[in-house]
Amino acid sequence: MKKAMTISYEIEDKLYLNITNKCPCNCAFCIRNNGDTAYGSDPLWLDHQPNEEEIIENLSSRELDSYKEIIFCGYGEPTCEFDLMKKTAAHIRSVSKTPIRVNTNGLGSVINKRDIAPEFKGLFDTVSISLNASDAEAYDKVTRPSFKNVNSFEEMLDFAKKVSAYVPDTMLTVVDIIGEEEIKKSQAIADSIGIRLRVREYIDEE
Ligand code: SF4
Repeated sequence: MKKAMTISYEIEDKLYLNITNKCPCNCAFCIRNNGDTAYGSDPLWLDHQPNEEEIIENLSSRELDSYKEIIFCGYGEPTCEFDLMKKTAAHIRSVSKTPIRVNTNGLGSVINKRDIAPEFKGLFDTVSISLNASDAEAYDKVTRPSFKNVNSFEEMLDFAKKVSAYVPDTMLTVVDIIGEEEIKKSQAIADSIGIRLRVREYIDEE
């Protein structure tokens, strides 16, 4: 495993932020299973957990207004470092008008042991939540969360519903390799809570 301090990396016209490698899941589709990088980036396994100063210093070398979007994503679940995520977003807001998105597993309220949805207000423009599967059993099989006695699928949907009241754009996502039948069922779930579904192309980097 190669390690570096790749706190931010560019893919086309977007800037991605890799603020933590922590995650309570072990998803079958996780890009971390395919190598050390994402779409040609430098290694995304961090030497150590960066602090606010290190992240802001890293961002100061970027022309933040030049990106179409700035996205919390990377090799980990950003809400595992929720305070850092909010402070970073507030900093970006103070120096740039570029829209900010969070790609999340939607389990941030379980991770932080409180309802974090209201705290997204004013800081994030888009929240993209991995739906991954159309029922709790399939979800647990795919995402393999480490929580005990938690219905992670229901928690993720509950977060999606709640956060949609605080951000302009909320979406659920699945990868296309789950098959047409699962995609149809996922669409029905997204419709039932009034959130759009995005079907992403699965890219195996190897
Ligand atoms: S939630 Fe995201 S970072 Fe965590 S294992 Fe799943 S895909 Fe990987």
